[in-house]
Amino acid sequence: MNYNAMPPGGLARAHPGTACGSRSDSISGGSVPYLLSLDQGTTSSRAIVFDETGQVRAIAQQPIRQIYPEPGWVEHDPVEIWTTQLDCARRALRDAGLAASDLAGIGVTNQRETTLIWERSTGDPIHNAIVWQDRRGAAWCTAQKDRGLLPTVQSKTGLVFDPYFSASKIVWLLDSVPSARQRASRGELAFGTVDSWLIWKLTGGLHATDPSNASRTMLFDIHEGSWAHDLAEAFDIPKELLPEVRPSSGDFGVALPKWLGGPVPIAGVAGDQQAALFGQGCIASGQVKNTYGTGCFMLMHTGGLAVQSRHGLLTTAAAQPALAPEYALEGSVFSAGSAVQWLRDELQIIQSAAEVEPLAASVKDSAGVHLVPAFTGLGSPYWDTEARGALVGLTRGTNRAHIARAALEAIALQSAELLLAMQADAGQHFAELRVDGGATANNLLMQLQADLLGVPVVRPAVQETTALGAADLAALALGVWESAPALVATRRAAATDRIFTPVATRDWAEEQLELWRRAVRRTLSKDRPEAQ
Ligand code: ADP
Repeated sequence: MNYNAMPPGGLARAHPGTACGSRSDSISGGSVPYLLSLDQGTTSSRAIVFDETGQVRAIAQQPIRQIYPEPGWVEHDPVEIWTTQLDCARRALRDAGLAASDLAGIGVTNQRETTLIWERSTGDPIHNAIVWQDRRGAAWCTAQKDRGLLPTVQSKTGLVFDPYFSASKIVWLLDSVPSARQRASRGELAFGTVDSWLIWKLTGGLHATDPSNASRTMLFDIHEGSWAHDLAEAFDIPKELLPEVRPSSGDFGVALPKWLGGPVPIAGVAGDQQAALFGQGCIASGQVKNTYGTGCFMLMHTGGLAVQSRHGLLTTAAAQPALAPEYALEGSVFSAGSAVQWLRDELQIIQSAAEVEPLAASVKDSAGVHLVPAFTGLGSPYWDTEARGALVGLTRGTNRAHIARAALEAIALQSAELLLAMQADAGQHFAELRVDGGATANNLLMQLQADLLGVPVVRPAVQETTALGAADLAALALGVWESAPALVATRRAAATDRIFTPVATRDWAEEQLELWRRAVRRTLSKDRPEAQ
């Protein structure tokens, strides 16, 4: 990797090859190297300053507007993405009492798939960003499937046809913005996911992304580690639009001095879920993290092997700290923390999400009650978009505590089923589950998860694993850390908040899973005549 282009104040402070054990005397004449992580999410832009031990020194956050031009459409204002992100970066730096010269570098992590196109000459967007949740590409996806392109897409990109991914959004922009396709063919326009947009703005014109983001576009050959030009051609997407793909930990140019008061190298880039996987220290085959938020996002690292799923999981590029490609299996539970929101907002049996734990803990079990929160259908391993939720097993003695407990069990049971599917696909057992996200504050939920899986559930002290992952990727490139294993070993020694060890028997867990599957079967569309 060539860092010669970086100005003094970038890698000049970092010492490539410095072992982490002796790092404190190695950087900037003894001062601690700080990392600035830019975490651009769906609902807010955030910036976090980490010190070299992974501790948070300052956080700044600003919401971003959700624009809904039509039902099913979701857009963001690209200028707002940029200005909120810059503002947060400046505030976090100020709140940490630091200057640009105190930073070793910047890591970028971002909402994935969200699609932007801008003019190369001016940097002006040609349209709002089309957000990952936006469904306007659904008809295009169906048409591509009808053309018989699914096997190629699946084998090259690891994805399935869904408007979620960037390709259909790019096509919509090229079809809808006057002369966009011609201008794109002439090389006048640039496409990017949010990482590329921020890098372009920060550096004043570097057009780059990393494999973890590229792998969510449906245009990236995850096996070759390069753009699938044949797919781009089949989709009529000019290759001139595409950014350069660089390793997630490496040279992404230098933020211009005007932004933060001095030049700072950008050296880590990864999509949010892959950044969280890295931030959780999952860098080897079989290591898994689960994020418990509104839904659950689960990724299992599969090393250098791109595993094709038999259970409807996606194959994706993991953050790539070195030149060799790394992969993960990815799956999600659609309704997890949202089941707790439902108890709070619709059933109104709790007043805050935190209340669910003491309420659920007030009974020893759910007394045969199961809540299947298939509010928006079921994902892997069922893949039934027409499934709808159910509360089953009610008796005259059922009370709100049983329902609260059933809601927590549903989160843990859905996650367990997905993890078991991953394990079967990858052909290997995982030794522990690393967790993050808002609902991991719930100790009962974490214990249930450990009992169902029969492996320890590890909750880190620093919950900002996504932002930390991006900062760590940057720290590696900058030589703050010698290697990913050295970094992870040090992080893990210091960073665990609590380990939940399984206490239940495997027989109990098997029985719970079987009872759950029975409850799920009652929600599937094929067994509900009204959904046919
Ligand atoms: P997101 O990033 O999807 O907005 P967060 O990571 O912020 O999600 O987590 C918020 C979710 O976690 C909400 O759905 C909320 O209901 C759930 N949650 C928060 N605290 C608890 C708790 N103590 N027990 C169970 N669920 C919780």
